[in-house]
Amino acid sequence: MVIEMDLAQRRAQHDVETAEHLFDVAVEQFDIAADVLGLEDNMRRVLRHCQRELTVHFPVEMDDGSVQVFTGHRVQHNDGPGPTKGGIRYHQSVTLAEVKALAMWMTWKCAVVGLPFGGAKGGVQVNPKLLSGSELQNLTRRYTAELAHMIGPTKDIPAPDVNTNPQIMAWIMDTYSMHEGHSVPGVVTGKPLVLGGSEGRAEATGRGCVFAIQEAAKVVKLNLQRAPVVVQGFGNAGSVAARLMAQLGAPVVGVSDSRGGIHNPAGLDLTAVQRHKDRTGSVVGFPEAENVSNEDLLVLDCDVLIPAAMEGQITEDNANFIKARVIAEAANGPTSPEADRILHDRGVFMVPDILANAGGVTVSYFEWVQALQAFPWKEEEVNHRLQDIMARAFAAVHGTAERYGVHMRTAALVRGIARVAEFTRLRGIYP
Ligand code: NAD
Repeated sequence: MVIEMDLAQRRAQHDVETAEHLFDVAVEQFDIAADVLGLEDNMRRVLRHCQRELTVHFPVEMDDGSVQVFTGHRVQHNDGPGPTKGGIRYHQSVTLAEVKALAMWMTWKCAVVGLPFGGAKGGVQVNPKLLSGSELQNLTRRYTAELAHMIGPTKDIPAPDVNTNPQIMAWIMDTYSMHEGHSVPGVVTGKPLVLGGSEGRAEATGRGCVFAIQEAAKVVKLNLQRAPVVVQGFGNAGSVAARLMAQLGAPVVGVSDSRGGIHNPAGLDLTAVQRHKDRTGSVVGFPEAENVSNEDLLVLDCDVLIPAAMEGQITEDNANFIKARVIAEAANGPTSPEADRILHDRGVFMVPDILANAGGVTVSYFEWVQALQAFPWKEEEVNHRLQDIMARAFAAVHGTAERYGVHMRTAALVRGIARVAEFTRLRGIYP
């Protein structure tokens, strides 16, 4: 028990330190790509900054009658390409620096897949698992009220991220609509279907990631039907990616969540794993597998590794021991710049976050379009358009990597930054 506490505390400490440095990582990546592009100094100065950063400290009445004050952020990195877009995260390690990094990555991500959005992100420093349903609702509604002046369907459109879900999006939509005096379904994406959510949105991040992996497999000549897969983080993005990889015939040999991982070299029965997680709250202890730590999970024998949890997981400490031939970052920022260099030198093919997990924001864009038109699409149409966008974005990024002789992350950033710089140049500076 004492050892478990110690581990949990060390992980929490690691999460906070990682979050604190994340914006430095985002700027370092930006600088590398800006050098490749030969971006002019004036433009660098503009794009290195986030345009708007809001921090709020807001009260929430708890079930026991006490009042707790929570800290939340919303950051809009750049609205040159259009309204800003980005998820809202509830996590105990949320910091302003982390939210700024995630907002900047959203700008490049939207540009890589050609969406008419800039990037934003939001977060509240809270462990939502410690709140009751009504406390979670109160927190969400008050946080939304604090943001109400800066969000909106033509301004900034939130979506789900770590520990937020369609129900939370419904509360955000309802609270914003109360303030406006009429229903505004386009203010958030990732809503429940009946409230104007899109078919395929819940699976979009995992599905888009798998489309990207299929393209990467063609490049490295990997037969996915026999390729062992490991997924870190069995949540929204990770569990869907795992299930779809298994549907392609790839044995998923390891998965994990915040409490630890499980490993079965013969392949896991994912339906049974999901049932076990629904019953016990974790994948750990699944009877037909061996328990492993999250650290060991990352270095298991596999061909495809999908980090789908938090940032700062693949570092210079473990990059040399990773066995995967392809890494597809369903999570945002799981790999440090040092680890990037090591993996590139070792010939590991990286599908970077701003490409690999762009399926989520792409189908969020479809949902926003459907809300504006009040005209829902069929799931096949959503998935077909998603596949088309992911395949075209992958080909464009891969072409850029070959042209400049850089790895896939830098290539994706080069494409994203070049597009946003073009918007910025054309729009000019007001006044
Ligand atoms: P989620 O809350 O549904 O799932 C996160 C999972 O990661 C959970 O199973 C949790 O237990 C696990 N986890 C947390 N800390 C961990 C750790 N240290 N080690 C191993 N597992 C851990 O969140 P999600 O929406 O699936 O988001 C996961 C990642 O994907 C995040 O980086 C997020 O920014 C990114 N992402 C999500 C979306 C989306 O549409 N949901 C879109 C793009 C990117």
